[in-house]
Amino acid sequence: MLFPLTVRDFLDRAVTVYPDRIAVVDEPDQPAESWGEITYAEMGRRAKAQAAALDVMGVPVGGRVAIVSQNSARMLTSFFGVSGWGRVLVPVNFRLAVAEIRYIIEHSGAEVMMVDPDLRHLVDEVECKRTFVLGEDDNTIWGGTGEPQPWEGDENATATINYTSGTTARPKGVQLTHRNNWLNATVFGWQASVSDRDVYLHTLPMFHANGWGHPFAATGMGATHVVIRQIDGGEILRRVEKHGVTYMCAAPAVVAAALDAAKTWDGEIPGRDRVRIIVAGAPPPTRTIERVRDELGWEFIQIYGLTETSPLLTMSRMRAEWDDLDPHQQAVNLGRAGAPAIGVRMMIDDMGEVLAQSNHNLASYWDNPEATAEAQAGNWFHTGDGGTFEDGYITIADRKKDVIITGGENVSSIEVEDALMSHPSVKEVAVIGIPDEKWGELITALVVLDTDEDPVDQAGLIAHCREHLAGYKCPKRIEFREELARTATGKLQKFKLREEFWKGHDRQVN
Ligand code: AMP
Repeated sequence: MLFPLTVRDFLDRAVTVYPDRIAVVDEPDQPAESWGEITYAEMGRRAKAQAAALDVMGVPVGGRVAIVSQNSARMLTSFFGVSGWGRVLVPVNFRLAVAEIRYIIEHSGAEVMMVDPDLRHLVDEVECKRTFVLGEDDNTIWGGTGEPQPWEGDENATATINYTSGTTARPKGVQLTHRNNWLNATVFGWQASVSDRDVYLHTLPMFHANGWGHPFAATGMGATHVVIRQIDGGEILRRVEKHGVTYMCAAPAVVAAALDAAKTWDGEIPGRDRVRIIVAGAPPPTRTIERVRDELGWEFIQIYGLTETSPLLTMSRMRAEWDDLDPHQQAVNLGRAGAPAIGVRMMIDDMGEVLAQSNHNLASYWDNPEATAEAQAGNWFHTGDGGTFEDGYITIADRKKDVIITGGENVSSIEVEDALMSHPSVKEVAVIGIPDEKWGELITALVVLDTDEDPVDQAGLIAHCREHLAGYKCPKRIEFREELARTATGKLQKFKLREEFWKGHDRQVN
């Protein structure tokens, strides 16, 4: 007999085995009324109520339900209330500009949109069949007592669509099935030793690759979720202390924030010898790894993957063979992206690109067969990252795709170039990432102005970008040039433009 793997399995187990345990400690400081602490029995009840409410609204199995929100218990519950009964959750990056959110809602065909009260303006600015404000409309979404229509489950059905900025001007919708999410959560959970003694702090945005799968992984093991709405190093340390946090996932910028806060922390660092922190998004410097281990006393784990791979591809974690190495060498080893996770096959092609085969790889890009075919050519997923594969470990060394990763989020250079080019005074532009201590990579625009038009300065151009793009996608630095290096055929030579900024770096990603 074959039972479909669906994300509801995680919630069902928690409700059956740990009904009275605290499932989630909601963010206390948020515009909607906090849910405070709710048990797994209650989370299960609310997820059911949400599914039943979607029945009443007539949202069919396979219908898309979008949520645009900072991390919250409501969002966490929606992973089950929506996807658990066959609908598709579309978690949208709440930092995006209105035009970008409008595009995602329209492109995904979402018939329901739930927004955080801080984003209430979206109710008027983004068209959707039904829009709800979290908190205010709780009665409609979570208030019912009826049973939802049963869903027999289909592991190949789409569970979530996450929009990600890639090499195109428009974001692409990564369609992950129940099977993708299930196997990512269990393999990740196993290799990261997730257990029922864990308390998981949501330092990752839940919209980003479904909080990397931990809404599922932690729930399945009956771990307690602790929601944090806004990232602040000191607050991370305080929550670790207050709730007995044992693990979290983070982009390197968040790690840097925690390290900064630790410098002025009074007394023993919370979670010493208890917390494990799982880092991805960019290769962390060896020094940062050493500092996490020395100054925080937390276990450092690195993973590598993409939204398209649910995301787990590789993991780098201390192993017995390294026990006798000196701490510096251990940190060097941990600085590699990692060894393929169970069920993941990897190779480097002739061009140096990292390719992957796994059961976490996306089903397809939503409504984009060309991009899907291109990404999966030859039955391998093309990561767009350049690297090496030695001694069983992948190291990411550069990026083949024109993507900048800043503060852990992907930004398509083309998207930023488009926004700048729409300014009448801009004649030519190249957007590149340059190494930066705080952001990993700093979005930098090299601009040639049209001298026949009105002059514009850096502040003017950044303000112009802000009208079209999310704030984090706007260039932080603009340099004006007389001309930009091009090939004989007129193609921009970005590698040449990057050279002066990346001199002395052994890797071309930061
Ligand atoms: P996203 O789909 O937004 O999660 O971004 C995925 C991209 O982040 C990958 O294609 C890599 O370029 C980068 N990335 C993720 N993890 C790592 C890592 N451990 N080291 C280097 N780059 C990484």
